[in-house]
Amino acid sequence: MIRTLTGIALAGGLFCLVPALSPAQEGAVVAVVESTTVDTAPALVRALQEVQPERISADLHFIASDAMAGRNTPSKELEVAAHFLRARLQQLGFAPGAGESYFYEYPLVSSALDADACWAGWTSKAGEQKLELAKDYYFGTWRVDESATVSGPVVSIGSGSDDELEGLDLTGSWAMVLDRDQMKTRGVLRAISKLGGAGLLVVQSSDYSGEPLVDRFGGERFDSLVKGDVRFPRGEGERQSRASTPTVYLDRPATVRLLAACTGSTGAADWFPKAGTNTGLTFTEERVMQAEDGHLMVKNVCGLWPGGDPELSKEVILVSAHYDHVGVQGGEIFNGADDNGSGTSGVLAVADALKAYGPMKRTVMLMWVSGEEKGLWGSKAWSNNPLLPEGHRVVADLNIDMIGRNDPHELFITPTREHKQYNAIAEAAMRLAPLEGFPKLDSADDYYHRSDQAEFARLGIPVAFLFAGIHEDYHRPSDTPDKIDYEKLSRVVRLVVRLLDELQTMPLGK
Ligand SMILES: [Zn+2]
Repeated sequence: MIRTLTGIALAGGLFCLVPALSPAQEGAVVAVVESTTVDTAPALVRALQEVQPERISADLHFIASDAMAGRNTPSKELEVAAHFLRARLQQLGFAPGAGESYFYEYPLVSSALDADACWAGWTSKAGEQKLELAKDYYFGTWRVDESATVSGPVVSIGSGSDDELEGLDLTGSWAMVLDRDQMKTRGVLRAISKLGGAGLLVVQSSDYSGEPLVDRFGGERFDSLVKGDVRFPRGEGERQSRASTPTVYLDRPATVRLLAACTGSTGAADWFPKAGTNTGLTFTEERVMQAEDGHLMVKNVCGLWPGGDPELSKEVILVSAHYDHVGVQGGEIFNGADDNGSGTSGVLAVADALKAYGPMKRTVMLMWVSGEEKGLWGSKAWSNNPLLPEGHRVVADLNIDMIGRNDPHELFITPTREHKQYNAIAEAAMRLAPLEGFPKLDSADDYYHRSDQAEFARLGIPVAFLFAGIHEDYHRPSDTPDKIDYEKLSRVVRLVVRLLDELQTMPLGK
């Protein structure tokens, strides 16, 4: 499950303690299930019997083991997971789901900073002055995505107060602000971008009392910019995230040189041009990314279970789960057992069940996607360029993410009746859920956009998302396999299998 700003607030509302199941409750669950399987078709009975907590536990203990190092996108361990999933598809006789391959590959773009090629500086009547990155100046950002040059006149905004900013025209300018005590720049940045400012130049007063720049922006933080990161390639017309105004911080010696070059400078230590003054300087800052040596490819894993009906088999029902998590952070492994080792091993159990079921009328595609935690990359890549056998089309998606924790009888779904995307799959899920010990499915509508179903829904198909709720170990190193309720997890998988069976003839898709 992808983290969002609102997610933290929502988590508080949805978190449930995990009460032990009383013997009476356990009996009730079993009784319901048994009474309904009696008159269920043999194929479905066989399939449901294949879904076994012990097998899911074995898979999940591997997927979420420390050896898998949190399955970051991209990482060697995520590759290992992909090969493991493929092996299982092959063993069970699934057809490749991405052309000739089980791997749907998509490119990521590297975004490492070329620190040596970056520079900043100014020109004045006296000539040109160059500054050195990570010595004379820093920029206050955690990531840089693209090379960019911003150049413009330097206009003072004083200390950046509302009064000083009132009525200024900063179009195309670097707004120069005097920092006395490690000012918070967020509000100033918002204000200057409204006034047309091109960049924020933060210079230090003679009595600056904040942390030295090297402590704020150097060290590990700067190293991570140089080491770089990867991102999803932007589509045509998509704005870069750095469309936000660049911020440059000058240390005091560089500030002294810059102020001395300003028109009207007195050279006094505490001299600063008042807000609105055009300093006569042109400031330039150039950020340069390292040359990309080809794209880095990452994988979704796709397996097809071809349908048996001559017509309906061209319609593909997608069962999806993300198999990535957030890797190692601060030296700690984020195992991601529930998020989403549970869905990953759950879809493997669906594969076992399909093998026992035999061909359904429609074709089923199992898809484990990568990059979910980074921003739904894998499902976005596939939805941008769906790859299916000739003449086939996807007609539905069932997505599972975090299905192994919290109260044994609690399960959430989106879209619900209250959601504008409410559909026949969600309706069927609600109808079938009591057969697996979930008396009623609660609303996960607040999570509709937080997992991969949101990307698949862009294809205009009905989607349903099953989810067992946030908990205290969400996105923490403590999301480990020992805390999973495997009996519950297997019932969620059985519900998915029942749904697949139910969806075989229902009108679906466009
Ligand atoms: Zn997550």
